[in-house]
Amino acid sequence: MFKQDLKEKYPFLTEYFEQGLKNAFHPLAHSILFYGQDISAQYEFATEIARLLNCKEFKNESCRCLNCNWVREHQHPAVLTISKIDNKPSDDTSKTVISIAQARMIKNSLLNTSDYHRVFIFCDAKMDGETWIPLGLNENNFHDETANALLKIIEEPPGNTTFFFLTRDKNDLIETIISRSQSFFVPSYKQEDKNYSIIEEIFSDYPNIERKKFIDLAQALFASSKEHGSEKVLDEIQNLLAAILKSNLENNICKTKIISDIKSVELAKQMINNHINPQLAFEDMLLNITKN
Ligand SMILES: [Zn+2]
Repeated sequence: MFKQDLKEKYPFLTEYFEQGLKNAFHPLAHSILFYGQDISAQYEFATEIARLLNCKEFKNESCRCLNCNWVREHQHPAVLTISKIDNKPSDDTSKTVISIAQARMIKNSLLNTSDYHRVFIFCDAKMDGETWIPLGLNENNFHDETANALLKIIEEPPGNTTFFFLTRDKNDLIETIISRSQSFFVPSYKQEDKNYSIIEEIFSDYPNIERKKFIDLAQALFASSKEHGSEKVLDEIQNLLAAILKSNLENNICKTKIISDIKSVELAKQMINNHINPQLAFEDMLLNITKN
């Protein structure tokens, strides 16, 4: 079934999709949403599933049937990437978004029957020189009105049709797409960023930050999050705490505090994911981290 390197990296997901591909009684969902930091991995996954859905022979990694070859070469007539730079109608002049005209083109194409399993992979994309790079969908490149124009066919597509939506963060997609799709988190194995330069100064007194400073520091974090994003700011705080923890492994009192503080940062991430104002989440976190 799946390529070996995908199996090794994503044992849970590959096992799950293999079951769906093999079992006609529990087939895959018509609409599948991938989210996570590594959009290239999501794209590879979607393409592999498209290949296996269309393979008429061995359904394995080394199969060289016409369908498998076409998908590998991105030439398959029924496996289409839909982005602001891919698969646009010839009279479509939009350049920055997946357009309503593209949505209409897809809808019209589904009026005809097909011998293939049709797959539409929705993502954003850019050219870096000669290299095509997949990026995540968000409200700027995939407008609500375009998404809504697709809802009916996503909900009740003709047979043998699968939609994929690739995004970094589920919150970047309109709720009507999320609710009609089965969502899967695709973990990122890219080199982890261990930096903490953005927040180093704000946290310079750690672990002895005074309680009375917590509002000022929350404001400083909030200002920084406007520039870098709150996720990045909280990631860097965790990076800093992890670095301090590493150099304090002998000191049990310090260790307990740092581990508890790392959990407070995690909690702040969850609060922001649940649409709580970042400044409030930062204040809450700093109340836990600071000392009286
Ligand atoms: Zn094949």
